[in-house]
Amino acid sequence: MKIHEYQAKLLLKEYDIPIQDGYVIENIGAAEETILKVKNKFKSKDVVVKAQIHAGGRGKGGGVKFCPNGDDALQSCQNILGMNLITHQTGPGGQLVQKVYITQAFDMAKEFYVGITMDRTTGKDVFMVSTEGGMEIEEVAKETPEKIIKVWIDPLEGFRSFQLAKLARGLNLEGSQYKQAVKILKKMYVCFKEKDISLLEINPLVETDNGEIIAIDAKMNFDSNAL
Ligand code: ADP
Ligand code: MG
Repeated sequence: MKIHEYQAKLLLKEYDIPIQDGYVIENIGAAEETILKVKNKFKSKDVVVKAQIHAGGRGKGGGVKFCPNGDDALQSCQNILGMNLITHQTGPGGQLVQKVYITQAFDMAKEFYVGITMDRTTGKDVFMVSTEGGMEIEEVAKETPEKIIKVWIDPLEGFRSFQLAKLARGLNLEGSQYKQAVKILKKMYVCFKEKDISLLEINPLVETDNGEIIAIDAKMNFDSNAL
């Protein structure tokens, strides 16, 4: 089972992982008020309007829009809500957008990929990170596999500190950003185990211009027996 980005982010937030936050609307009548609410609550002048569907690749498909002002944001809500969004993950039929997530915007300095899944061949969890965030990880795996750092976590031994350090170093971060990344990766694994997640991806995890590390996107799949 898949859940929406905004639902996955609520879970991340429960685990104290910093997220790009916002509010969801299901009808256009609520747009104007919600755009204002996002601007005031997160003290951001810009907002990002994001289609909520059970598939990635929304950015390229026209389902994620950066909006530098309120009129722009309203227009994007109108365009995206109710649209049939086609991405490389939806198949040619696309998916109808019934929910739109209006979120705070960030100036991003760096984008990373971080993800955890179960590796059935080893019976371990595999935790992967890459400095090539924001792109399709399958493409990175094909073109530049050396840019994906992986560790295999034995469920009985747990997430070892040397493994955590290897992943955080793999993101090429230093100082405060390294420390923030360590905390986030650690909490991600706890969330993955406690919620019985089969795939947890944050792509991109970003470093903002202010040096904060924040989850901009989130994807979670669950096994049917974890429900
Ligand atoms: P998807 O993976 O479905 O395409 P994302 O949430 O990853 O959707 O958004 C796609 C891209 O849009 C991101 O990689 C990022 O570059 C840009 N983006 C998303 N949210 C923001 C934001 N809050 N501020 C600036 N850019 C953003
Ligand atoms: Mg993404």
